[in-house]
Amino acid sequence: MTSKITEEVPWEPNPEVMKLWPEISGNTINGIGEQEKHAPRPVFWRADGTISHTDVLFYFYNRDNDNERITASRKLREEPIAMPLVDISAEQIEKTFAEWSELVKKMAQEMGADQAGICEYQPEWTYEDRPQPTGKWAIMLAFAHNYDNLNTAPHEDAYIEVMVQYARAAKSAKLLANWIREQGWHADPKMGPNTEDVLMIPAAIEAGLGQLGKHGSMINRKFGSNFRLSMVLTDLPLNPDQADDFGSDEFCQNCQICANACPPDAIFREKQMVRGEKKWYVDFDKCIPYFVDNKCCGLCLPACPWSRPRIAENLVQKMAKRKEQGTN
Ligand code: SF4
Ligand code: SF4
Repeated sequence: MTSKITEEVPWEPNPEVMKLWPEISGNTINGIGEQEKHAPRPVFWRADGTISHTDVLFYFYNRDNDNERITASRKLREEPIAMPLVDISAEQIEKTFAEWSELVKKMAQEMGADQAGICEYQPEWTYEDRPQPTGKWAIMLAFAHNYDNLNTAPHEDAYIEVMVQYARAAKSAKLLANWIREQGWHADPKMGPNTEDVLMIPAAIEAGLGQLGKHGSMINRKFGSNFRLSMVLTDLPLNPDQADDFGSDEFCQNCQICANACPPDAIFREKQMVRGEKKWYVDFDKCIPYFVDNKCCGLCLPACPWSRPRIAENLVQKMAKRKEQGTN
């Protein structure tokens, strides 16, 4: 079943999917309404059978098994995932923090990333049932989508585009981790989305790659919401970047485009308290039934004005001007 923004008949959840839905709400697992800060609990992208929504996840994975294009796109990630991690060289190269920071970003771009940022890794980004990973610093990598492909959502072309970018993200993270290990320093790639032990979005925000949008995804000052992430954790001596506040959060306060574009009306119009933080949040119990009932979704990403080609820069300027004039 596919639904587009212009569809007049309200979307109804597929009973076949709802038969598989567990009693517990995904929002409860995510910690909606919880005032205390605590580690995230795994809710969906984990295929080891340990999550409450396992049957729903496998419904999604299995429904297109006979679709050769989708199967081929999923296989793209296998090659970088299978690439071995090299041993950490016994000879440790020494440079200053500033030199490493500059060099590691240059190497990230040479290895395919469209943007890179650095932050100190926070233990609260690790899922509660996973051990803390090694590495003081998170190097966050961004990979821009082809907008036209993403804009076909929820058609399978959009899903294939996402898989292509996740494959690129995985390959770059693995190559960068191996390069750091050759310099004699620990490095561990996290390749998204099934990384299973760490949250990527809060790290990417800290690393200056963008701000959280109302649609629950990030907005970058150049790519809008039109990008994917991967991460490399390392002990290489690095300097952190600053979070990048370019006004998209204020923009979201007065914009409802993604919320209006979402067929199951999953996007909360106001920020919600989630694990001790008030933030934009998407209703899991509405989004995921739509997502798995289609070949994917992500309609909210190309719908966001920041994602449209050549628009983000103008919006950054507009928001800076508003800030100067005190009209936010
Ligand atoms: S991905 Fe989820 S939140 Fe975004 S439009 Fe689709 S159903 Fe709505
Ligand atoms: S569509 Fe509007 S409200 Fe939604 S994330 Fe983009 S700017 Fe924010």
